Amino acid sequence: MTQLMPAAFVGHGNPMNALEHNRYTEAWSAFGAALPTPKAILVVSAHWYVNITAVTAMKVPRTIHDFYGFPKELFDVEYPAPGEPEVAQRIVDLVEPTYVGLDEDSWGIDHGTWSVLVHMFPKADVPVLQLSINAELPFEYHFNLGVKLHELRSQGVLILGSGNVVHNLRLIDWRQPGQGTDWAHRFDDDVRSIMTSDPSQLASSESSPDYGLAVPTPDHFLPLAYIAGLSAAASSPTRTLIDGYEMGSLSMTAYELGGS
Ligand code: ZN
Repeated sequence: MTQLMPAAFVGHGNPMNALEHNRYTEAWSAFGAALPTPKAILVVSAHWYVNITAVTAMKVPRTIHDFYGFPKELFDVEYPAPGEPEVAQRIVDLVEPTYVGLDEDSWGIDHGTWSVLVHMFPKADVPVLQLSINAELPFEYHFNLGVKLHELRSQGVLILGSGNVVHNLRLIDWRQPGQGTDWAHRFDDDVRSIMTSDPSQLASSESSPDYGLAVPTPDHFLPLAYIAGLSAAASSPTRTLIDGYEMGSLSMTAYELGGS
C-alpha cells in the first residue's frame, strides 16, 4: 500500500504568530517535526483569493508581506524556500479538465503560508507552492479540487489549508484575548463535529444560522474545503490538532488528516 503524506488545515490567526511562541505555534512545530520530509509543500492560503485558479511555478518564490500596521520585525521576516515548477506542472495535469494556470511571476509565499511554515519547517529547505482560491466559484468547486489533489499525497507532497474556521475581523474585540463569542463557539463546534466524523458533509455548514457571522467572506473558510475534499478522497475523517479562540471572533482550530 502506498504511503500517504499527512495533510492539515491550520488556523493561522494574527500574522504576529510568525514571531511568537504560543500553544498554537508549538502545535504547528510538533506537527512539522513528526512528518517524514515532504518532497514539496502545497499551501492553499486564504490570502491568495483571486478570480482565477493558479499555482505558483517559479523557482524562487518571493516572501510577500501582505498586511499593514504591523511592526518592522514582521516585515523583515523572509521565508526563502525554493519553488518546484515540476510539481506545479504535475498539479495542472492532475486536475484536468479543471483549469489551473501556472503563475511564473505574480504571487509567491504570502503570510498565510509563511507565518505557519516558519514554525513547521524553520529551515525553509522544502520547496513551497501555493494554490490560489478562485473567488468566483462555489464551495463544491473547492471541495472537488481537494478530492482531485489526493494523489499528490502518495507522491510525498504535504498539502496544507491555511485560514480560520471563524474569522470576522469587523467584530474583533481586543478585550477578549483567548476567548470566543457564543456564536463563534457554536459554529466552530458544528464544523468540528463534521470534520471529525464525515468531512464530505462540510458544505452543510453553509446553512448554519451562525455562518454569516463566522464566515462574513469565504476566503478564510475555503482552505478547509480542500482538506475536507482530501479527507473524503481518503475515506478518513480528520482529528483536531489544536483549538482555541482569539478576540471573540476568531477560531484557531487546526485539523490533521493522518498518513497511512
Ligand atoms: Zn489570515
